[in-house]
Amino acid sequence: MNQVVDQPTEKVNLLDFDRQGLRDFFAQLGEKPYRAEQVMKWIYHHLEDNFENMTDVGKTLRAKLEASCYIGPPKTVFDKAAADGTHKWLLGMDGGNAIEAVYIPEPTRGTLCVSSQVGCGLNCQFCSTATQGFNRNLSTAEIIGQMWVAAKYLGNITHQNRRITNVVMMGMGEPLLNFDNVVKAMSLMRDDLGFGLASKRVTLSTAGLVPMIDKLSETIDVSLAVSLHAANDELRTELVPLNKRYPIAELMAACNRWLARKPRTSITFEYTLMKGVNDQPEHARQLIKLMRRMANCKVNLIPFNPFPGTRFERSDATVIRDFQTQLLNAGVLTMLRRTRGDDIDAACGQLKGQVLDRTRRQAEFRKRLDEGVIHAV
Ligand code: SAH
Repeated sequence: MNQVVDQPTEKVNLLDFDRQGLRDFFAQLGEKPYRAEQVMKWIYHHLEDNFENMTDVGKTLRAKLEASCYIGPPKTVFDKAAADGTHKWLLGMDGGNAIEAVYIPEPTRGTLCVSSQVGCGLNCQFCSTATQGFNRNLSTAEIIGQMWVAAKYLGNITHQNRRITNVVMMGMGEPLLNFDNVVKAMSLMRDDLGFGLASKRVTLSTAGLVPMIDKLSETIDVSLAVSLHAANDELRTELVPLNKRYPIAELMAACNRWLARKPRTSITFEYTLMKGVNDQPEHARQLIKLMRRMANCKVNLIPFNPFPGTRFERSDATVIRDFQTQLLNAGVLTMLRRTRGDDIDAACGQLKGQVLDRTRRQAEFRKRLDEGVIHAV
């Protein structure tokens, strides 16, 4: 015999809302918009996840919130500190999946590296996340939740004791393939009632999804980084298969449109240096030629970080230095990214998390990419 049980209506995770979403949700509850903003401050300034403790929110509203929603950051499976102070969190998602977020402290700033997808479907040859395949997009709550968890751990206080001064969407996944959720999460990073970071301190890194770069420039004010890794199409297609769909000329055109729309900004081009692959003087010359046509850009050289099973190796230190010098001598602003946290596999391209059920989803993803559906994502 079936028993009739009252099904509780599904509670809503408030971390899924940006400011407007939160106001709309409060309107549905019959509450004034300023109430939403009050609660938003509790969530992001005081890092409070218990309505009980929101002392300036009336009892009746607290009870209403308790009944209809919750504040649900991802659960920490484990966290680990590297010898250099870098901190990595493995955060549990649904169904045994897990993603990683990394905090990189430096003397003048603290950067949080945030993931956007469980795994990644782009299959860049030198990236450890690629070997995991793709499972799914992260929700807004799961993206901003990474920052919430790190901020809470670090004792971050917005506008006072900022431990996280910068966020880079450079963790697992391709952020532009999870556009809406990533944009909502970044708007919470930027919002004064959220984490209150300036546009130049929130950076989205992409492997080069041209139409989405245009869309991003029209949607939100953040900084852009582009994973280049090679300045000729043949080599770039080998390293970053997405280049086949959006070759370098199209990518650079999109970057120039970005700069035209945001005249006072610059774009960072990431270039991972792999021994004998893309680190020779001729590669530097190609890169210089390409950068000459880009106003206001900088190159960020990343020494390759190895991971089990990779066929690539890190370039020798002298080769890296020579490569940088060649660019600098040609007037290209070039930084060398220091390798951080590699003793806990937290460095660029080493994030793996745990991705279940990847084969089927990977196959679906490939099919969609082949069909060109990704244009419409
Ligand atoms: N999908 C986005 C976000 C990932 S960002 C993108 O491609 O930009 C991660 C950065 O680290 C990218 O620039 C990526 O190309 C780089 N990277 C990936 N694997 C790496 C590795 N093994 N060593 C060093 N850098 C790596």
